Amino acid sequence: MINFDLLVAGCDTRCKHCYVNGGPLPRMKVDDAVLCIERLDAIAANLPDEAYFTLDHEPMGHPDVGRIIGAAAGKKHIRHHHHGMTTGVGLMRRDDREVVLDRYLSAGFGSFGVTIHGGEALHDEIVRRKGAFSTSVAFGEFVKARGAELEVSLMVNRFFPQQREEISATLDRLKPDCIYIALPIFTPHKNGMDYEPYRASVRDVETLGEWFRTLGKDDAELIERARESSVGFAVQTLQNGWDLFTLFSEPQGEKYLTVHPDCHLYMGNSGAETKCLGDLRLIDPEATAARISEAPDNRDYGAFYDTSMLPETERVIDALKGLPQETVYGDCPSVICRGLAALNIPTRILGYSSKQR
Ligand code: SF4
Repeated sequence: MINFDLLVAGCDTRCKHCYVNGGPLPRMKVDDAVLCIERLDAIAANLPDEAYFTLDHEPMGHPDVGRIIGAAAGKKHIRHHHHGMTTGVGLMRRDDREVVLDRYLSAGFGSFGVTIHGGEALHDEIVRRKGAFSTSVAFGEFVKARGAELEVSLMVNRFFPQQREEISATLDRLKPDCIYIALPIFTPHKNGMDYEPYRASVRDVETLGEWFRTLGKDDAELIERARESSVGFAVQTLQNGWDLFTLFSEPQGEKYLTVHPDCHLYMGNSGAETKCLGDLRLIDPEATAARISEAPDNRDYGAFYDTSMLPETERVIDALKGLPQETVYGDCPSVICRGLAALNIPTRILGYSSKQR
Protein backbone atom coordinates (compact mmCIF):
# COMPACT_ATOMS: atom_id res chain seq x y z
CA MET A 1 0.00 0.00 0.00
CA ILE A 2 1.34 3.44 -0.94
CA ASN A 3 -0.11 6.57 0.67
CA PHE A 4 0.34 10.17 -0.45
CA ASP A 5 -0.56 12.98 1.93
CA LEU A 6 -1.47 16.07 -0.09
CA LEU A 7 -1.15 19.09 2.21
CA VAL A 8 -3.60 21.44 0.55
CA ALA A 9 -4.28 23.71 3.55
CA GLY A 10 -2.75 24.14 6.98
CA CYS A 11 -4.91 23.41 9.98
CA ASP A 12 -6.05 25.95 12.53
CA THR A 13 -4.66 24.44 15.70
CA ARG A 14 -1.14 23.69 16.91
CA CYS A 15 -1.77 20.54 18.90
CA LYS A 16 0.97 19.66 21.36
CA HIS A 17 0.88 16.01 20.32
CA CYS A 18 0.79 16.69 16.55
CA TYR A 19 2.94 14.12 14.82
CA VAL A 20 2.06 15.14 11.29
CA ASN A 21 3.61 18.61 11.37
CA GLY A 22 0.24 20.34 11.35
CA GLY A 23 -0.35 23.95 12.24
CA PRO A 24 -1.00 27.07 10.19
CA LEU A 25 0.86 26.17 7.00
CA PRO A 26 0.47 28.01 3.68
CA ARG A 27 -2.24 26.77 1.31
CA MET A 28 -1.52 25.03 -1.95
CA LYS A 29 -2.70 27.05 -4.98
CA VAL A 30 -5.84 25.44 -6.34
CA ASP A 31 -4.37 24.99 -9.85
CA ASP A 32 -1.33 23.31 -8.27
CA ALA A 33 -3.57 21.02 -6.21
CA VAL A 34 -5.45 19.92 -9.33
CA LEU A 35 -2.18 19.41 -11.23
CA CYS A 36 -0.61 17.48 -8.32
CA ILE A 37 -3.58 15.09 -8.25
CA GLU A 38 -3.10 14.46 -11.99
CA ARG A 39 0.61 13.85 -11.44
CA LEU A 40 -0.06 11.45 -8.55
CA ASP A 41 -2.40 9.52 -10.82
CA ALA A 42 0.37 9.31 -13.45
CA ILE A 43 2.86 8.08 -10.82
CA ALA A 44 0.33 5.54 -9.52
CA ALA A 45 -0.05 4.17 -13.05
CA ASN A 46 3.58 3.06 -12.79
CA LEU A 47 3.48 1.68 -9.25
CA PRO A 48 3.11 -2.04 -8.55
CA ASP A 49 1.06 -1.52 -5.37
CA GLU A 50 -2.32 -0.04 -4.59
CA ALA A 51 -1.99 3.75 -4.14
CA TYR A 52 -4.23 6.33 -2.56
CA PHE A 53 -3.99 9.92 -1.45
CA THR A 54 -5.50 11.97 1.35
CA LEU A 55 -6.30 15.67 1.33
CA ASP A 56 -4.68 17.04 4.52
CA HIS A 57 -4.35 18.81 7.02
CA GLU A 58 -7.55 20.90 6.90
CA PRO A 59 -8.85 20.77 3.33
CA MET A 60 -12.12 22.41 4.47
CA GLY A 61 -10.04 25.51 5.21
CA HIS A 62 -9.07 25.83 1.53
CA PRO A 63 -11.17 28.47 -0.29
CA ASP A 64 -11.47 26.19 -3.37
CA VAL A 65 -12.01 22.89 -1.58
CA GLY A 66 -15.04 22.11 -3.77
CA ARG A 67 -12.95 22.21 -6.93
CA ILE A 68 -10.23 20.11 -5.31
CA ILE A 69 -12.72 17.42 -4.21
CA GLY A 70 -14.09 17.38 -7.75
CA ALA A 71 -10.58 16.94 -9.19
CA ALA A 72 -9.86 14.14 -6.72
CA ALA A 73 -12.84 12.04 -7.81
CA GLY A 74 -12.72 9.10 -10.20
CA LYS A 75 -9.01 8.94 -10.91
CA LYS A 76 -7.97 5.94 -12.95
CA HIS A 77 -4.97 4.72 -10.96
CA ILE A 78 -5.14 6.36 -7.56
CA ARG A 79 -7.94 6.46 -5.00
CA HIS A 80 -8.95 9.46 -2.89
CA HIS A 81 -9.11 8.38 0.75
CA HIS A 82 -11.32 10.65 2.89
CA HIS A 83 -10.37 10.33 6.56
CA GLY A 84 -12.72 13.11 7.66
CA MET A 85 -10.90 14.04 10.89
CA THR A 86 -11.03 17.78 11.46
CA THR A 87 -10.88 20.49 14.09
CA GLY A 88 -14.01 21.94 12.49
CA VAL A 89 -12.48 25.42 12.47
CA GLY A 90 -11.86 25.43 8.72
CA LEU A 91 -15.52 24.75 7.96
CA MET A 92 -17.24 26.65 10.75
CA ARG A 93 -15.56 29.95 9.93
CA ARG A 94 -16.84 29.84 6.34
CA ASP A 95 -20.01 31.62 5.25
CA ASP A 96 -20.50 28.93 2.59
CA ARG A 97 -20.25 26.03 5.06
CA GLU A 98 -23.54 24.48 3.90
CA VAL A 99 -22.35 24.49 0.27
CA VAL A 100 -18.99 22.96 1.21
CA LEU A 101 -20.53 20.24 3.37
CA ASP A 102 -23.05 19.42 0.64
CA ARG A 103 -20.13 19.11 -1.79
CA TYR A 104 -18.58 16.48 0.47
CA LEU A 105 -21.88 14.66 0.93
CA SER A 106 -22.64 14.59 -2.77
CA ALA A 107 -19.13 13.24 -3.42
CA GLY A 108 -20.01 10.31 -1.13
CA PHE A 109 -18.09 11.50 1.95
CA GLY A 110 -20.68 11.36 4.68
CA SER A 111 -18.55 10.73 7.75
CA PHE A 112 -16.48 13.18 9.80
CA GLY A 113 -14.56 13.00 13.05
CA VAL A 114 -13.40 15.28 15.83
CA THR A 115 -10.90 14.64 18.59
CA ILE A 116 -11.74 15.64 22.17
CA HIS A 117 -8.92 16.08 24.71
CA GLY A 118 -11.06 16.72 27.81
CA GLY A 119 -13.21 19.59 29.01
CA GLU A 120 -13.19 22.93 27.22
CA ALA A 121 -10.20 24.55 28.97
CA LEU A 122 -7.96 21.48 28.77
CA HIS A 123 -8.87 20.83 25.15
CA ASP A 124 -8.05 24.42 24.13
CA GLU A 125 -4.77 24.26 26.06
CA ILE A 126 -3.66 21.04 24.33
CA VAL A 127 -4.57 22.20 20.82
CA ARG A 128 -3.26 25.69 21.57
CA ARG A 129 -6.29 27.57 20.27
CA LYS A 130 -8.85 29.34 22.41
CA GLY A 131 -12.35 28.50 21.27
CA ALA A 132 -11.26 25.28 19.51
CA PHE A 133 -13.39 23.06 21.77
CA SER A 134 -16.63 24.99 21.21
CA THR A 135 -15.92 25.07 17.46
CA SER A 136 -15.38 21.30 17.31
CA VAL A 137 -18.65 20.75 19.19
CA ALA A 138 -20.50 23.20 16.93
CA PHE A 139 -19.02 21.39 13.91
CA GLY A 140 -20.24 18.05 15.25
CA GLU A 141 -23.76 19.37 15.73
CA PHE A 142 -23.72 21.03 12.32
CA VAL A 143 -22.72 17.93 10.35
CA LYS A 144 -25.13 15.70 12.27
CA ALA A 145 -28.00 18.10 11.61
CA ARG A 146 -27.25 17.79 7.88
CA GLY A 147 -27.30 14.01 7.91
CA ALA A 148 -23.60 13.19 8.16
CA GLU A 149 -22.14 10.63 10.56
CA LEU A 150 -19.99 11.85 13.42
CA GLU A 151 -17.12 10.02 15.06
CA VAL A 152 -15.50 11.25 18.27
CA SER A 153 -11.97 10.23 19.15
CA LEU A 154 -11.19 10.59 22.87
CA MET A 155 -7.45 11.10 23.17
CA VAL A 156 -6.82 9.89 26.70
CA ASN A 157 -4.51 12.00 28.86
CA ARG A 158 -3.71 11.98 32.56
CA PHE A 159 -6.45 14.53 33.36
CA PHE A 160 -9.26 12.34 32.01
CA PRO A 161 -10.13 10.83 35.43
CA GLN A 162 -10.99 14.34 36.76
CA GLN A 163 -12.75 15.36 33.57
CA ARG A 164 -15.01 12.35 33.03
CA GLU A 165 -18.23 14.22 33.74
CA GLU A 166 -17.43 17.12 31.44
CA ILE A 167 -16.46 14.71 28.65
CA SER A 168 -19.61 12.64 29.21
CA ALA A 169 -21.71 15.81 28.96
CA THR A 170 -20.09 16.62 25.60
CA LEU A 171 -20.78 13.10 24.34
CA ASP A 172 -24.40 13.36 25.51
CA ARG A 173 -24.71 16.58 23.56
CA LEU A 174 -23.06 15.30 20.37
CA LYS A 175 -24.48 11.77 20.37
CA PRO A 176 -21.72 10.52 18.05
CA ASP A 177 -22.30 7.49 15.84
CA CYS A 178 -19.00 6.07 17.01
CA ILE A 179 -16.53 6.72 19.85
CA TYR A 180 -12.86 5.80 19.64
CA ILE A 181 -10.48 5.63 22.58
CA ALA A 182 -6.97 6.73 21.59
CA LEU A 183 -3.81 6.20 23.66
CA PRO A 184 -1.37 8.46 21.80
CA ILE A 185 1.93 6.90 20.78
CA PHE A 186 5.37 8.49 20.90
CA THR A 187 7.19 9.24 17.66
CA PRO A 188 10.49 11.11 17.51
CA HIS A 189 9.30 14.14 15.55
CA LYS A 190 9.79 17.75 16.59
CA ASN A 191 6.62 17.90 18.80
CA GLY A 192 7.28 14.60 20.53
CA MET A 193 8.24 16.05 23.90
CA ASP A 194 5.57 18.77 24.09
CA TYR A 195 2.92 16.21 25.04
CA GLU A 196 4.94 14.77 27.95
CA PRO A 197 3.05 16.64 30.73
CA TYR A 198 -0.26 15.15 29.51
CA ARG A 199 0.68 11.50 29.02
CA ALA A 200 -1.58 9.04 30.76
CA SER A 201 -0.32 6.20 32.94
CA VAL A 202 -1.58 2.64 33.30
CA ARG A 203 -3.12 3.73 36.64
CA ASP A 204 -5.14 6.48 34.89
CA VAL A 205 -6.53 3.96 32.41
CA GLU A 206 -7.41 1.57 35.26
CA THR A 207 -9.20 4.43 37.07
CA LEU A 208 -11.21 5.07 33.92
CA GLY A 209 -12.25 1.41 33.55
CA GLU A 210 -15.81 1.74 34.77
CA TRP A 211 -16.35 4.93 32.76
CA PHE A 212 -15.08 3.17 29.62
CA ARG A 213 -17.73 0.50 30.25
CA THR A 214 -20.46 3.20 30.30
CA LEU A 215 -19.23 4.18 26.82
CA GLY A 216 -19.66 0.60 25.64
CA LYS A 217 -15.94 -0.15 25.63
CA ASP A 218 -14.12 -3.25 26.80
CA ASP A 219 -12.27 -1.82 29.80
CA ALA A 220 -10.23 -4.97 30.42
CA GLU A 221 -8.90 -4.82 26.88
CA LEU A 222 -8.06 -1.11 27.20
CA ILE A 223 -6.24 -1.67 30.48
CA GLU A 224 -4.29 -4.55 28.95
CA ARG A 225 -3.40 -2.37 25.96
CA ALA A 226 -2.21 0.40 28.31
CA ARG A 227 -0.02 -2.08 30.22
CA GLU A 228 1.52 -3.31 26.98
CA SER A 229 2.14 0.32 25.97
CA SER A 230 3.98 1.27 29.13
CA VAL A 231 7.65 1.91 29.74
CA GLY A 232 7.86 -0.95 32.25
CA PHE A 233 6.51 -3.45 29.72
CA ALA A 234 9.04 -2.32 27.08
CA VAL A 235 11.89 -2.66 29.60
CA GLN A 236 10.79 -6.22 30.39
CA THR A 237 10.48 -7.05 26.70
CA LEU A 238 13.98 -5.77 25.96
CA GLN A 239 15.36 -7.66 28.95
CA ASN A 240 13.72 -10.80 27.56
CA GLY A 241 15.98 -10.55 24.53
CA TRP A 242 14.35 -8.34 21.92
CA ASP A 243 16.97 -7.19 19.45
CA LEU A 244 16.73 -3.53 18.41
CA PHE A 245 18.39 -3.97 15.03
CA THR A 246 16.00 -6.80 13.99
CA LEU A 247 12.97 -4.93 15.28
CA PHE A 248 13.81 -1.71 13.45
CA SER A 249 14.66 -3.56 10.23
CA GLU A 250 11.37 -5.46 9.97
CA PRO A 251 9.32 -4.97 6.79
CA GLN A 252 6.48 -2.52 7.41
CA GLY A 253 4.18 -3.21 4.47
CA GLU A 254 3.29 0.42 3.73
CA LYS A 255 4.92 3.48 2.22
CA TYR A 256 4.06 7.04 3.15
CA LEU A 257 4.83 10.10 1.07
CA THR A 258 3.92 13.76 1.50
CA VAL A 259 3.32 16.59 -0.96
CA HIS A 260 4.01 19.99 0.63
CA PRO A 261 2.04 23.13 -0.24
CA ASP A 262 4.96 24.15 -2.52
CA CYS A 263 4.31 20.91 -4.48
CA HIS A 264 7.55 19.19 -3.44
CA LEU A 265 7.18 15.46 -2.95
CA TYR A 266 8.88 13.78 0.03
CA MET A 267 9.39 10.23 1.20
CA GLY A 268 7.87 9.95 4.69
CA ASN A 269 4.68 11.00 6.38
CA SER A 270 4.10 14.67 7.08
CA GLY A 271 6.36 15.59 9.97
CA ALA A 272 8.65 12.63 9.27
CA GLU A 273 9.96 13.42 5.80
CA THR A 274 13.27 11.71 5.07
CA LYS A 275 14.03 12.57 1.43
CA CYS A 276 12.85 15.08 -1.19
CA LEU A 277 11.99 13.56 -4.58
CA GLY A 278 11.53 16.94 -6.34
CA ASP A 279 8.76 19.24 -7.52
CA LEU A 280 5.76 17.03 -8.29
CA ARG A 281 4.72 19.36 -11.13
CA LEU A 282 8.02 18.79 -12.93
CA ILE A 283 9.38 15.33 -12.11
CA ASP A 284 9.03 12.39 -14.48
CA PRO A 285 6.20 10.12 -13.23
CA GLU A 286 7.78 6.88 -14.46
CA ALA A 287 11.22 7.59 -12.94
CA THR A 288 9.60 8.79 -9.69
CA ALA A 289 7.48 5.65 -9.45
CA ALA A 290 10.66 3.58 -9.86
CA ARG A 291 12.35 5.51 -7.00
CA ILE A 292 9.32 5.02 -4.78
CA SER A 293 9.18 1.30 -5.58
CA GLU A 294 12.84 0.86 -4.69
CA ALA A 295 12.60 2.79 -1.40
CA PRO A 296 12.11 0.77 1.80
CA ASP A 297 8.71 0.78 3.52
CA ASN A 298 8.37 3.58 6.04
CA ARG A 299 5.15 3.30 7.99
CA ASP A 300 6.75 4.04 11.38
CA TYR A 301 9.69 3.58 13.77
CA GLY A 302 12.00 1.55 11.51
CA ALA A 303 12.03 4.40 9.02
CA PHE A 304 12.98 7.05 11.55
CA TYR A 305 16.47 5.72 12.28
CA ASP A 306 19.58 4.64 10.46
CA THR A 307 19.90 1.18 12.02
CA SER A 308 23.71 1.41 11.98
CA MET A 309 23.39 4.24 14.54
CA LEU A 310 21.21 2.38 17.03
CA PRO A 311 22.85 2.07 20.47
CA GLU A 312 23.39 -1.08 22.53
CA THR A 313 20.14 -2.45 23.93
CA GLU A 314 21.50 -2.06 27.50
CA ARG A 315 21.81 1.72 27.02
CA VAL A 316 18.17 1.93 25.88
CA ILE A 317 17.05 -0.15 28.88
CA ASP A 318 18.94 2.20 31.22
CA ALA A 319 17.39 5.26 29.56
CA LEU A 320 13.89 3.78 29.86
CA LYS A 321 14.48 2.88 33.50
CA GLY A 322 15.01 6.60 34.12
CA LEU A 323 11.40 7.33 33.06
CA PRO A 324 8.20 6.72 35.05
CA GLN A 325 7.54 3.03 34.41
CA GLU A 326 3.74 3.33 34.19
CA THR A 327 3.68 6.01 31.46
CA VAL A 328 1.93 4.96 28.26
CA TYR A 329 3.79 5.67 24.99
CA GLY A 330 2.32 3.12 22.56
CA ASP A 331 3.52 -0.25 21.30
CA CYS A 332 6.99 -1.44 22.28
CA PRO A 333 8.84 0.14 19.35
CA SER A 334 7.18 3.50 20.10
CA VAL A 335 8.32 3.28 23.74
CA ILE A 336 11.80 2.42 22.50
CA CYS A 337 11.69 5.58 20.33
CA ARG A 338 11.12 7.50 23.58
CA GLY A 339 14.22 5.85 25.05
CA LEU A 340 16.22 6.75 21.93
CA ALA A 341 15.01 10.35 22.25
CA ALA A 342 16.25 10.39 25.86
CA LEU A 343 19.65 9.29 24.53
CA ASN A 344 19.57 11.97 21.80
CA ILE A 345 20.01 9.36 19.05
CA PRO A 346 19.65 11.28 15.76
CA THR A 347 16.81 10.38 13.36
CA ARG A 348 16.72 10.48 9.57
CA ILE A 349 13.84 12.98 9.69
CA LEU A 350 14.60 16.17 7.76
CA GLY A 351 13.14 18.35 10.52
CA TYR A 352 10.94 20.82 8.66
CA SER A 353 9.02 23.30 10.70
CA SER A 354 5.97 25.10 9.43
CA LYS A 355 8.04 28.30 9.45
CA GLN A 356 10.74 26.84 7.21
CA ARG A 357 8.10 25.78 4.75
S1 SF4 B 1 -2.95 16.95 15.27
FE1 SF4 B 1 -4.21 17.37 13.48
S2 SF4 B 1 -5.48 19.09 14.13
FE2 SF4 B 1 -3.74 19.02 15.53
S3 SF4 B 1 -2.16 20.42 14.68
FE3 SF4 B 1 -1.78 18.33 13.93
S4 SF4 B 1 -2.80 18.25 11.93
FE4 SF4 B 1 -3.68 19.96 13.08
